[in-house]
Amino acid sequence: MKQIQFDYKNKEMLLQDIRRVKQWRQLNISSSVSFEIYSEILDKNAIEIICETIRTEMPDAVYSGCTTNGNIMLGELSRSNICIICTVYEYPDTQISVMQRNIDMHNLAEVCREVVEYVNSNEWIKSVEMMITIRTVSTTLMCEELSKMREGVELFGGGAFAIDIDEQHSYVFSSDGECRNDAIVFRFLGGENLHVSTWQITGWKTLGREHIVTKSDGKVLYELDNQPAFDVYYKYLNIENDRNFFRNSLEFPLIYKNGDYNVLRAPTGSNRDGSLIMTANIAEGTHVRMAYGDPEIILRTVQSGSEDIAKFQPQVLHIYSCAARRFFWGEMADSETKPFQSIAQTSGFYTSGEFLRKERDLVQHNVTLVIGALREGNIIPGMESNVDLHGFHISKQVSLISRLANFIDISTAELEEANRKLERLAVTDGLTGLYNRNKIQSIIVDCIEEQGLDTALIMIDIDDFKKVNDTYGHDDGDEVLRGLSRSMNETVKKLGVQAKLGRWGGEEFMVCITGEDSKNAPQIAEALRAAFNKVEFKEAGYQTITAGVSTFKPGDTAEDVCKRSDDALYHGKRSGKNKVVVL
Ligand code: GH3
Ligand code: MG
Ligand code: MG
Repeated sequence: MKQIQFDYKNKEMLLQDIRRVKQWRQLNISSSVSFEIYSEILDKNAIEIICETIRTEMPDAVYSGCTTNGNIMLGELSRSNICIICTVYEYPDTQISVMQRNIDMHNLAEVCREVVEYVNSNEWIKSVEMMITIRTVSTTLMCEELSKMREGVELFGGGAFAIDIDEQHSYVFSSDGECRNDAIVFRFLGGENLHVSTWQITGWKTLGREHIVTKSDGKVLYELDNQPAFDVYYKYLNIENDRNFFRNSLEFPLIYKNGDYNVLRAPTGSNRDGSLIMTANIAEGTHVRMAYGDPEIILRTVQSGSEDIAKFQPQVLHIYSCAARRFFWGEMADSETKPFQSIAQTSGFYTSGEFLRKERDLVQHNVTLVIGALREGNIIPGMESNVDLHGFHISKQVSLISRLANFIDISTAELEEANRKLERLAVTDGLTGLYNRNKIQSIIVDCIEEQGLDTALIMIDIDDFKKVNDTYGHDDGDEVLRGLSRSMNETVKKLGVQAKLGRWGGEEFMVCITGEDSKNAPQIAEALRAAFNKVEFKEAGYQTITAGVSTFKPGDTAEDVCKRSDDALYHGKRSGKNKVVVL
């Protein structure tokens, strides 16, 4: 495959370029020709002139394109508004075709099903590239539907955009349709000798503590840790909830794990209520962290990624890079795309969302570089190109920002661990390791008064415990208390009962059982009593307990149920101890 990339200046010069391709094509054994057109400007007129020129000069060529947040040509951010990339495929069996469909909320699933059907019934297809006007539809639904494509087909692409990030319009167009603000274009490539592989390069790293998505609805992220999501950006980064929120927050997307790989989600705007509009759906319950970009870490990732890509010996690379990366790098945006040009002819654009299928699933990413590598023919041993970082010096020394971020990460991890320990201590009885009185009490109130669950309580008291202390001493008394806790834990585990165990005070304990198991509370109490009977202490020998059982009755408060178990226990003590009484 051969490729030429050129700027679009005017129709006359385009004609010359196309004629050059035609001449060149005649000298080669070639099959298909494709054009990709990327435009930073929303100039339908210019786009239409280009499309028409290609159509008339080379009617058998396919073309596709979109508007972008920046065109990547020969691995660099192009200075011209419109770029044209022409690829001539040299193997006669290489095939290329495009499909364009108008999309809206209602027909998206149907369009995706049509594409899946087309791919599944055309064995020659090896890869599908897509460009979409992203703001018009739910990309989550699209990803779900397109994931049903037969396995082994590479699927990737990006969202059309405009140079002005606040611009709501973007266009896609192709030889199968006109320039539209509400459409999707698919480019199908395949054939016996064509090989396609894909990569995703991110380089962003986590920063600070974990937050849980407690409220979200589609693309709207309402709450993190039960607080307005925006608060996180204000509190940690001092980013105001104003017009510039998008630009300011772009470098700090949220990151979370989806199976083995990281997914980044950037906010595109903030609402007055503190909710954030994200680039794609983010589900409730997701554990997210903030992420940040460090140039050196990113370049290291690009370097190792491109060395990997070089092994594939691609002839052409297609890059879909997030507009956030362009922002992040500013004037130096080429640093992370130029190394790819040392491997193969590199072109692409800055997107509003990158798409990549891994295993079966198509996922929308943000803030990543998605790369599709194409090759005709087999790998030639020993012919890989060396990756050239173009003078960009990755110093051996770790950067200051990287050290500080590491400092924050480690401090956060230490604080999180300390907090977990404190939380555990605050609810635990020191001697027995069971819940303390406060905690078991609040569990009971929560079950009965807040959740209205079927609940049974077993109050347990060691019989004649005073004698144990008086006869063997306080330490052996403690040993009996610990022994009872162990025995209770083991019994509950053995019975497979969902029970919460707490120390009520002194030598009194409380067991709280909810749900179906609560009906069996008397039997459970009996099992606890019998099991403890069999425990032998080194000094204190065998000891006994008395248990009072009560079950929740309609209208009961938590206090009522506790009081009844206490009464039952009292009856047990009065009538001979070492028994279970139910009230
Ligand atoms: P009954 O069968 O009626 O329950 O008689 P009892 O002797 O068990 O009850 P009583 O309430 O008279 O005595 C409870 C004893 O438990 C008194 C107290 O010193 C002892 N005790 C309370 N907390 C602890 C503790 O943490 N460790 C030890 N070793 N003893 C404790
Ligand atoms: Mg007592
Ligand atoms: Mg006692």
